[in-house]
Amino acid sequence: MASIFTKIVKGEIPSYKIAEDDNYYAFLDINPLAKGHTLVIPKKEIDYIFDIDDDLYQGLFLFAKRVAKAIEKVIPCERIGMTVIGLEVPHAHIHLIPINSIYDMDFKQPKLKLSQEEFEDIAAKIRKEFI
Ligand code: AMP
Repeated sequence: MASIFTKIVKGEIPSYKIAEDDNYYAFLDINPLAKGHTLVIPKKEIDYIFDIDDDLYQGLFLFAKRVAKAIEKVIPCERIGMTVIGLEVPHAHIHLIPINSIYDMDFKQPKLKLSQEEFEDIAAKIRKEFI
């Protein structure tokens, strides 16, 4: 069965899209640790990030770098933290999280509750900065 993220890539499930190209897709995490918390995925459905072939893997990180640069233009923060967990959704993804301290990367923290309008507003602003 297709992963929830494959369904997002195919447009079968909505997402707050940030950017995409032929191989990668970036969208807001719906349970964000911070405003602008973004997931970056390869469109090809591969569960474990370290099973991705070298070219696609390198491209994923380069794509994530461009997304991070766009996020930091919109969300005031010390820097963009990057992590891979992947225990919940079996489709490799990088978390990009605006942070001001190490505690902002703590996934045990309560997630932000944002309205649809807030998600849309953040996504539109980051999308505009993506180059
Ligand atoms: P993990 O696999 O542990 O890295 O966590 C999966 C992440 O995907 C969590 O932060 C979820 O909030 C996020 N997530 C799950 N479903 C969706 C969705 N439909 N749209 C955006 N983010 C999602």
